[in-house]
Amino acid sequence: DVVTAPRRIKALDPDVVNKIAAGEIIVAPVHALKELIENAVDAGSTSLEVIIKDGGLKLLQITDNGHGISKEDLPILCERFTTSKLKSFEDLTSIGTYGFRGEALASISHIAHLQVTTRTKDSNCAFRAHYDSGRLAPAKPGQSAEPKPIAGRQGTQITVEDLFYNVPIRRRAFRSASDEYNKILEMVGRYAVHCDGVAFSCKKHGEAGTGISTQSNSLTVDRIRQIHGGSVAQELIEFTSTDSRWGFKARGWTTNANYHVKKTTLLLFINHRAVDSNTIRKAIEQTYSVFLPKGGHPFTYLSLEIDPERVDVNVHPTKREVNFLNEDAIIEAICNDIRIKLAHVDTSRTFMTQT
Ligand code: ADP
Ligand code: MG
Repeated sequence: DVVTAPRRIKALDPDVVNKIAAGEIIVAPVHALKELIENAVDAGSTSLEVIIKDGGLKLLQITDNGHGISKEDLPILCERFTTSKLKSFEDLTSIGTYGFRGEALASISHIAHLQVTTRTKDSNCAFRAHYDSGRLAPAKPGQSAEPKPIAGRQGTQITVEDLFYNVPIRRRAFRSASDEYNKILEMVGRYAVHCDGVAFSCKKHGEAGTGISTQSNSLTVDRIRQIHGGSVAQELIEFTSTDSRWGFKARGWTTNANYHVKKTTLLLFINHRAVDSNTIRKAIEQTYSVFLPKGGHPFTYLSLEIDPERVDVNVHPTKREVNFLNEDAIIEAICNDIRIKLAHVDTSRTFMTQT
């Protein structure tokens, strides 16, 4: 039979829109956790504890000691596009915090069971609230949805349970909880190396041993040692790079020519956000190719700060990619400074063996 008339166009139900958006932002448990880590760091926390069950699919819990959330804000906390960090579109150009569009908690509440316990400095107790699809919800059917006063320390604890419980096709796509746990350890490890003055721990629920544990006062090299081991840590050289023409400052630690492994490890932060960049990875590998045996690769931690007006953080809802001006010139300048350091270490070693 021939279709003669078009079907009518109708607006989707907002809950459907939100659930679709949530699935785009949170593809795997590690993406939810990244948002929660960034929120905790934004809140000025100096301690961050993560507990994981079944690779984060059963439980993701993060406890921080940051400034907490006011009781008055709890009703709108998980509404989409509610944020304490951005007021105008122009603010996007000077954004100093990790989050900026109030989508993370909203998304999580659409595809998981979400519980928030929080206490501010001025409050004499903590409050606990449950959320479902952006709204306050009762902990159990028949109970009140109002946040409940309870005892608790200053800071915030976010508990995410049964991620993707209502997106069965996504839930089934996860074959291995340990793969998801490894991605989580990798992400917590990145922030643990980068965030000066913040203690991190990450472990599996009900297990005594910790996957990751760093202290707030340890130096960058010590944190790299704790997370990536002594063989990396003992071969690190520090580098810095800056050029006011391109409005950037870079600093980091990278392995010398004594160290090489099969795969590059790049811990990359742009304006304190963990991001990936194939362009930067390739440029670093290219820089090392003259110093390392064929097939050998480095470990590099690179923190790149670029004038906010030159960065577009808004290219992707997950913020895993960012665009910035003069990308090629900036990467070339950084690699050049790394090359000089490597050459210097290389000649001093040759010099030592000669004498
Ligand atoms: P965004 O980070 O983009 O603002 P989120 O959905 O991640 O959006 O968080 C919404 C708001 O909830 C934040 O702006 C912040 O005010 C508050 N918030 C979230 N997590 C925390 C936390 N761990 N400590 C204090 N406040 C938090
Ligand atoms: Mg956020």
